[in-house]
Amino acid sequence: MRISLNSAQTAFRDEVRAFLAAELPPDIAERVKFGKSVSKNDLITWTRILNGRGWAAPNWPQAHGGTGWTLVERHLFDVECRVAHAPALSGFGFNMVGPAIVRYGSDEQKASLLPQILNADLWWCQGYSEPQAGSDLASVRTRADRDGDDYVVNGQKIWTSGAEHADWIFALVRTDTKAKPQRGISFLLIDMTSPGVTIEPLYAFNGKRLWNQVFFDDVRVPCGNRLGEENHGWTVAKSLLGDERLLVSRVAENKRLLGILRETLIQTDCAAEFGAAFSSLEIRLAALEMTSLRILTEADKGGQIGAEPSMLKLKGSQLIQAMDSLLLEAVGYWGLPVDAGGGGMAMGPDYAEYAASGLFHHRGYTIAGGTSEVQHNIIAKQVLGL
Ligand SMILES: Cc1cc2nc3c(=O)[nH]c(=O)nc-3n(C[C@H](O)[C@H](O)[C@H](O)COP(=O)(O)OP(=O)(O)OC[C@H]3O[C@@H](n4cnc5c(N)ncnc54)[C@H](O)[C@@H]3O)c2cc1C
Repeated sequence: MRISLNSAQTAFRDEVRAFLAAELPPDIAERVKFGKSVSKNDLITWTRILNGRGWAAPNWPQAHGGTGWTLVERHLFDVECRVAHAPALSGFGFNMVGPAIVRYGSDEQKASLLPQILNADLWWCQGYSEPQAGSDLASVRTRADRDGDDYVVNGQKIWTSGAEHADWIFALVRTDTKAKPQRGISFLLIDMTSPGVTIEPLYAFNGKRLWNQVFFDDVRVPCGNRLGEENHGWTVAKSLLGDERLLVSRVAENKRLLGILRETLIQTDCAAEFGAAFSSLEIRLAALEMTSLRILTEADKGGQIGAEPSMLKLKGSQLIQAMDSLLLEAVGYWGLPVDAGGGGMAMGPDYAEYAASGLFHHRGYTIAGGTSEVQHNIIAKQVLGL
């Protein structure tokens, strides 16, 4: 099967490319390219530039500020942005809670929260995982007990990425302890400045503050901050993924890394030594992109999609990790020092400085968004009928 872009898709891609060449601030792109810390201000700047063009939330309905693009167009946009080293916008606001507010929010919630997400005025984090609830998310224990027009929330979340920057957290909380696990959960939007919320950092292997623990100690949350019906939070949480689950192949990020790898092999004079390994990755990426485009085209036509996203997630995350390994091998010892964004003096050339940090960071892709074992289970059940 051969898939090529039609003329409208090619024109669309060229329009995005021209926009990026003109509007993406070069200093931000350089920080992204070399894996340096991208600040909250960088992200706000880029979000507002995109919002000014009406492109901040391609996945939202047009009535709420979306673009009306097809899935294939969204894929092309994503690839162009990543290859140009644009920072990825906050997925918590744009891909998770935003679409959930569109679908389940009251008119007040939509009017107040959606424009603030679009303009990067309101930052979110995701409060799902708990020490005893990860892959088995329905076992969340954080409790929310009714008291008049409020809930009183007590419990703990863990692995909460970006909590230190977030204004609000969307959290799964238990509102009925007697019902079946999935039935007793509600979806709450909680202001992080509420009395009783505390945040403690968790550091990743590369020294970066990648996560946090968030503690709730008698935190009062107005019932009006619930999204969807009481005890129906599981339905809201499941819907968060929606079309997003089709865009998990990380093709765009892989293309960006392949470009960096190509440049690095040339700069380090390693093209001959690692040429075959590079070509093998390039072929794997081409296969992943073709498969991804085939599935997106099918979905755009209204086709039914089954376990394919699990395959794309597995293959995409494994490919990124293979790219990281080859990059580190190519840059050798220059890639070993890890500076956790602390502004220390660079030990080697730009292209090597964050090679190890990137490799450590991307190990998390095996777990985040559903572990590889869970993806294997889905494939075993849905495809192999096991
Ligand atoms: C980079 C990163 C960012 C994250 N950000 C957030 C965030 O912002 N908010 C948030 O709420 N969470 C976040 N998480 C947490 C993530 O969602 C959980 O780590 C994930 O759901 C797995 O849960 P767990 O860590 O409790 O592991 P567990 O579910 O306890 O799994 C432990 C091991 O057992 C395996 N396993 C579990 N169940 C099965 C099964 N049925 N069959 C076979 N094997 C199984 C798993 O694959 C894994 O290897 C993040 C994680 C990472 C790595």
